[in-house]
Amino acid sequence: MKLILAAAASMGWGFFGHETINRLSIFSLPPGMIGFYKRHADYLVEASVNPDKRRYAIKEEAPRHYIDLDSYGDSARSLPKYWGAARARLGEDSLMKHGIVPWHIAFMTEQLREAFFVRDPDRILRLSAELGHYVADANVPLHTTRNHNGQLTNQHGIHGFWESRLPELFSKQYNFFVGRASYEDDVAGRAWEAVFHAHAAVDSVLTEERLLSINHSSIKYNYETRGKQTIRVFGADYSRLYHERLRGMVERQMRRSIRMTADLWYTAWVDAGQPDLRQLLEYRPTEEELRKRKLEWEGWKARTYQAREHESGGN
Ligand SMILES: [Zn+2]
Repeated sequence: MKLILAAAASMGWGFFGHETINRLSIFSLPPGMIGFYKRHADYLVEASVNPDKRRYAIKEEAPRHYIDLDSYGDSARSLPKYWGAARARLGEDSLMKHGIVPWHIAFMTEQLREAFFVRDPDRILRLSAELGHYVADANVPLHTTRNHNGQLTNQHGIHGFWESRLPELFSKQYNFFVGRASYEDDVAGRAWEAVFHAHAAVDSVLTEERLLSINHSSIKYNYETRGKQTIRVFGADYSRLYHERLRGMVERQMRRSIRMTADLWYTAWVDAGQPDLRQLLEYRPTEEELRKRKLEWEGWKARTYQAREHESGGN
């Protein structure tokens, strides 16, 4: 008999969660965007998990999905908000070691802004799908701690339990109406707010499971047959009890992910001058047109950055 602990790998929300978050983010978009996103909903859902698929092929990929805030101790709060300053102070190797998700969210939003500016439909879709992925990961408490799979507290498998098993079992009951996307004038600040908010929940995620397991170890696991394999999963009753103890946490974090994804998609679009996406439904720009717009973007960016650096003292 072959035993596999289902979803033990730390994949971030599991496929189900990422797909759900990207799909639902579409419905918060304003009229100027929603048609284009709805038309490509299948792609946005399918590509929502591409960053996880890349993790084992590309060395730089893994750190983009998490940040071990506890590795920094009390100085986590004073980590530089922007990548340039962080790299200058701590060095890239050290940053990569503890994860870079908040900085990567800001970077991806910036890339998406460029794609909108250039009006490149393929890039808009790819970056939207992947930005949604990183945003969702940043909102998972266990993506903000060294103890990401409970390995330091003898709670192996809790990562997949929280982010895959619970949403799969209970998300049908969730209220996913998160309202209309709004403009975010501090994208980097929003990414940091997300990881600190998620991090504040780490203690509950671990403690509630530990307390539950004291009296309910007999119902902790079930064995399910899938194809030819027998898989050990967290038991349905055990999952329900844990879910109740978390008092809506998984639902809240999914809602935050959906709203933040929509807000950042919308913000990138507004910053790029609200290009008419309806034109991209039927028309594909030529390579030459894309190149020309890319040059325009570089010029625009250079001017904006000069202005910004004057304001913020280069930070
Ligand atoms: Zn991930």
